[in-house]
Amino acid sequence: MPVAQSSGVLSFEEAHRAVEEHAASLSARETETVDLLSAAGRVLAGPVLADRDLPPFPRATRDGYAVRSQDVTRTPATLEVIGEIKAGETPDKIPACLGPGQAAAIMTGAPVPNGADAVVMVEYTSQKGSRVEIARAVSAGENVVPCAAEARSGAVLVEKGERLTDAAIALAASVGRSKLQVFKRPRVAVLTTGDEIVPVDASPGPTQIRNSNSYSLSVQIRQAGGEPVLMGIAPDEPTQLRAMIEEGLKADLLLMTGGVSMGRYDLVEQVLAELKAEFFFTGSKIQPGRPVVFGRCAASNKTQTYIFGLPGNPVSTMVTFELFARPMLEALAGMSPRKLRFVYAKLKSEICTKPGLKRFLPATLSGEFENSQVELVPWQGSGDIAATARANCYIVIPPDREVFKSGEFVPILMR
Ligand code: AMP
Ligand code: MG
Repeated sequence: MPVAQSSGVLSFEEAHRAVEEHAASLSARETETVDLLSAAGRVLAGPVLADRDLPPFPRATRDGYAVRSQDVTRTPATLEVIGEIKAGETPDKIPACLGPGQAAAIMTGAPVPNGADAVVMVEYTSQKGSRVEIARAVSAGENVVPCAAEARSGAVLVEKGERLTDAAIALAASVGRSKLQVFKRPRVAVLTTGDEIVPVDASPGPTQIRNSNSYSLSVQIRQAGGEPVLMGIAPDEPTQLRAMIEEGLKADLLLMTGGVSMGRYDLVEQVLAELKAEFFFTGSKIQPGRPVVFGRCAASNKTQTYIFGLPGNPVSTMVTFELFARPMLEALAGMSPRKLRFVYAKLKSEICTKPGLKRFLPATLSGEFENSQVELVPWQGSGDIAATARANCYIVIPPDREVFKSGEFVPILMR
């Protein structure tokens, strides 16, 4: 008998908040130090600080002439060229100070000398001998990034808890960090259930189904910063299922697929209840994925492990991971919480649905530049992996809407 009661079925927002609250309560994780490049995609465990002012000198952003802007308010203006400053020039070759009527040839990335406050682009100049004619006025500060304008020495450039992107890795490189301290990846046990499910390389009998959920989940787990641990397939039989759940509870997070609906052989909640699990919700008013379960259960070593029972239909598994398991896993991976944000796109063709559930329906966003449009992918329901593989986003339909007209802007969740 499933233990789910109707009171355990929450709206999408309530269920999502429950996950966020538990995610926010997690304590610090173990860390490790890795090479800069291996840190890409990992979660930073200690902040990256500026080791000096950025830029460390006033930097020219154009090839041209460093000038005093007040000398070129009237054009053409002729100035005396007192030097040439290349990028990386040693300080002794840089004019000590630019006086009235003077200019210095300067290259992109070179230090602007004292006295100068702007750079005139080379395109608006012509040099003859030691004199340069300036054809265009510049305002103070033009084509110069002042010293420390990007960051002061000691400032936090990348915060602890941030996922390291290409830009964050470049920033770490720019301040000399060849190694970074990151959080260890949480281990996520993946347990699939169902008498009809067979391994990928088995030849399925006429009514058997190959296990695809463990694979979509593994990919999603990796993308969210976790390390999937595939536990195989549990039968719809309580004793073996219980033994496998107990094994799975040794991981940092346990994800199960299948066996959470109301069918006679949907035993996951029953076995979890026997193991004295605490349930935070046993369903959410969404489609696909309504029977999704979130709870916590003590492992044999008494530590509490969070668990998700994700519905077995492959699209439900993918969607419920994205909506509920991902924020928990990101928190276990040490990431600072981030909001689930939807972007809006123009609807290509009308959508009619029944009210009552918040829907996340596979869709394609297509079209170029400003002409992007989104439309539903025709599908056979939440078992249709082929349709989902053709989709690149989900259209999000609130529970109180029945019709969306073409041309309307609708929220989408990118895949
Ligand atoms: P269940 O949630 O156990 O009622 O399963 C719902 C549907 O998902 C059924 O059609 C199952 O055959 C299918 N299913 C369950 N687990 C998997 C899996 N690991 N891979 C592919 N399909 C699955
Ligand atoms: Mg099943």
